[in-house]
Amino acid sequence: MKSAHEPGEVTLIEALSRGLPGDRLVVDPDVLAAISHDEAEWAPAGKAVAGVRARTEAEVQHVVRACAELGAAIVPRGAGTGLSGGANAVGGCVILDLSRMNQVLEIDPDNLVCVVQPGAVNNDVKAAVAEHGLWYPPDPASAPWSTIGGNVATNAGGLCCLKYGVTRDYVLGLRAVVGGPVAYGDAVRLGRRTTKGVAGLDLVGLFVGSEGTLGVVTEVTLRLRPALAGTPRTVVGAFPDLVSSGQAVAQITRRGLTPAVLELLDRACLEAVEEWKHLGIDADAAALLLARVGHPGDSGAAEASAIAATMNRGGRAMGGAVHRRRGGRGAVRRQAAGLPRARATRPGAHRGRLRAQVPSARDAGADQHDRGPAWRADRHRRARRGREPAPVPDHAAG
Ligand SMILES: Cc1cc2nc3c(=O)[nH]c(=O)nc-3n(C[C@H](O)[C@H](O)[C@H](O)COP(=O)(O)OP(=O)(O)OC[C@H]3O[C@@H](n4cnc5c(N)ncnc54)[C@H](O)[C@@H]3O)c2cc1C
Repeated sequence: MKSAHEPGEVTLIEALSRGLPGDRLVVDPDVLAAISHDEAEWAPAGKAVAGVRARTEAEVQHVVRACAELGAAIVPRGAGTGLSGGANAVGGCVILDLSRMNQVLEIDPDNLVCVVQPGAVNNDVKAAVAEHGLWYPPDPASAPWSTIGGNVATNAGGLCCLKYGVTRDYVLGLRAVVGGPVAYGDAVRLGRRTTKGVAGLDLVGLFVGSEGTLGVVTEVTLRLRPALAGTPRTVVGAFPDLVSSGQAVAQITRRGLTPAVLELLDRACLEAVEEWKHLGIDADAAALLLARVGHPGDSGAAEASAIAATMNRGGRAMGGAVHRRRGGRGAVRRQAAGLPRARATRPGAHRGRLRAQVPSARDAGADQHDRGPAWRADRHRRARRGREPAPVPDHAAG
């Protein structure tokens, strides 16, 4: 881009402000710095010239055209929870913040689709469709903060991806502002909103995971599923070493059992959870295997029992037990706090005695919104240790 301002020449900031309401432009150095990097602290971040907090697709088009005219790079940004530096500024760029375009535009229960703006937060979309008895499955651990636009750009996956798939499996169509081929700033509609769509090239599939390199996503049509009824069952198994826990995973897969979630926590992870949440987990196990069976009724009960039996039979499981989870995260915490401490010490000695439930990373993080300064300081500390996204400063969030 042109860095020096010649007399009579339009600067990038002037060009941007010509087509934007005054409150969209970010030039305050502190605020700009706060939105110039994601959660990848190791990745270098350059110095942005300005930020734009777009609220409409037309504003996105204006930014793309102005930057194309003056040769400036654009870095789209959702919530900045990425772990690869994808939302980090490059020198002289404009940070295009999509987090204010956060509306759920349409929910169509008859066709199991919804249409959202790119800045809609994953968990907010889940909550909105849940009111209609629907479910948006992709569940990155960052779901309380990360945006659908960011999820699309990174093809985010989560705990339930083994059974229910990743973001790509739920994006039916999208709108994006692209950099050509006809003219910079064109808005294009790609994909469909029907279940079947086999004609032509899969341009939506190309866009998903492209990390902002093909264009700026301004609207997403998502496939939904009917919400699962009933109480999920969690199966917990403790293992004396990682190898035996891996063997249990292989056995579960080989038997055709497909839990909605199958998560392995090694010793370091268990200690980190205990240090963080003080759930009273002091199992001597080297690994815990957590499986969650989401579907209700007898078939769900049978699958949970089969998973527990597989863990116990899997050679060296120290314990496998099925728990019904009632009442969401609070119940998990109360249950964990009131349960006996696990004391499994040798293979087979304490079969079925393990009673600790560990919340998933998402469960643990989902209540972290809107806390006070102490919480924010704690979040910064954890973010430095790579566990949670750092909060954007208050003055930057306005
Ligand atoms: C605690 C924590 C847990 C995480 N857990 C998971 C996990 O389980 N699974 C997983 O896959 N990831 C996970 N991540 C990584 C991150 O949350 C995901 O990559 C997420 O999809 C990023 O969303 P975002 O809104 O924060 O996007 P950002 O970080 O802001 O951006 C990510 C990329 O998308 C591009 N982008 C953003 N919005 C748009 C848009 N509208 N149009 C075009 N490009 C855009 C950016 O330029 C950048 O390249 C985790 C991160 C943290 C901090």
